[in-house]
Amino acid sequence: MLTKEELLEYLEKEKQAIYQRGDAFFQCAELGFREVETARMITDLLVEWGIPYKKEVALTGVIATIGKGNGYHIAFVADIDALPRKDGNGSIHSCGHSIQTTLGLSLLKVLHDSGILENTDTKVSFFFTPAEEYIDFEYRDGLIAAGKLEFRSGKQNMIALGCFDGVDCVLSAHANGDEGMKFDVASTLAGFMAKKAIFMGRAAHSGAAPHLGRNTLHGATLTMNAISFLKDQFAVEKGLRLNPVLTVGGGSVNTIPDETVLETYVRANDNETLFEACKRFDGCVEHCAKALDLEYKILNTVGYLPLTQSKGLNNVVRENMLLHCSLEEILEGPISGASGDVGDLGFLIPTIQFGFSGVKGRFHDDSFQISDYENCYITSGKVMLGTIYDLITNPNCRVQQNAKEYVVKKMEYFGWLHQNYQ
Ligand SMILES: [Zn+2]
Ligand SMILES: [Zn+2]
Repeated sequence: MLTKEELLEYLEKEKQAIYQRGDAFFQCAELGFREVETARMITDLLVEWGIPYKKEVALTGVIATIGKGNGYHIAFVADIDALPRKDGNGSIHSCGHSIQTTLGLSLLKVLHDSGILENTDTKVSFFFTPAEEYIDFEYRDGLIAAGKLEFRSGKQNMIALGCFDGVDCVLSAHANGDEGMKFDVASTLAGFMAKKAIFMGRAAHSGAAPHLGRNTLHGATLTMNAISFLKDQFAVEKGLRLNPVLTVGGGSVNTIPDETVLETYVRANDNETLFEACKRFDGCVEHCAKALDLEYKILNTVGYLPLTQSKGLNNVVRENMLLHCSLEEILEGPISGASGDVGDLGFLIPTIQFGFSGVKGRFHDDSFQISDYENCYITSGKVMLGTIYDLITNPNCRVQQNAKEYVVKKMEYFGWLHQNYQ
């Protein structure tokens, strides 16, 4: 068996090829479920290296597995999608997903070339996942209506297709914007649900006979008050955010409004808070509407679940970071208001996502650039490779997925998704 240092050497030797590949993927920026060229570039390399794969999974996703072991099954997940440029001129990798794609391919090649998984019980699957950014709804809803997809995100579709069944743990990494730090570990990602409450009442002359009307703006106003009191009932660290707006609220001053629409995102740092806050938001709408003799309807659109990271896996990741940097260069447990569909995976399977620095400019903006190739591609690659090495060679490092629990959680997950997809 190779030592960890010998395995990391494989990555070091590939450095120049990796940087070139990174540039090529950064240039090839495509929006979610449209990553046709990106997928072709991935599969061209896999063909060249002689690695079998599955393509067109959830339209543009690619999956490749190294190792034949029937024991521990590790997943590495890499996003492949980009965002529209702000100047309207095509797309750009302004969330750094091209780095993840490049990282995934580097790790694949090293594991393949080194033969490290031969004669072990372990296998590592690489998931190149489309459409992480929650955008471009019209196009995606068209694909759903045409029966080509079930949900709007890549990982949600891959979970539905059963691609992650049998996976024991999920590893991922994402660029972060923390200057002066090399990595972050154990960060939170918020989950969110979009809510639309429609109040239905009765129009009437506001001067002559307001008592004959049923004023929906009153119902919405009462609900706004209830929501602001509700926020008081959750601890600050739960990350509950509710910022309602009224998108319809009456037309003319001499008529009692008979339709008012209140919309908000419900965001929270953990599943329990997200589920509970959604339930209580519904309660506010229901009871405020009933109190004023109004009808109501609530439409939900599922976003992503909050990411709760596996502590055990993060301990392994942190140890591997410390081989390449000091403790002061690791940001521990930052709270992020951002969201990702890796949160959905974290609900089902022990999951981690560490952050690496080495980018400048603003995320989701045309100013985004990769500034430190070494940290983005090589050092973070070594942290991930070292983590995989530990999981292969040392069963004590492993966090086990409980197969029965997975089935129960998956049912709960799809119950939630199907109930809330409007
Ligand atoms: Zn993003
Ligand atoms: Zn991202």
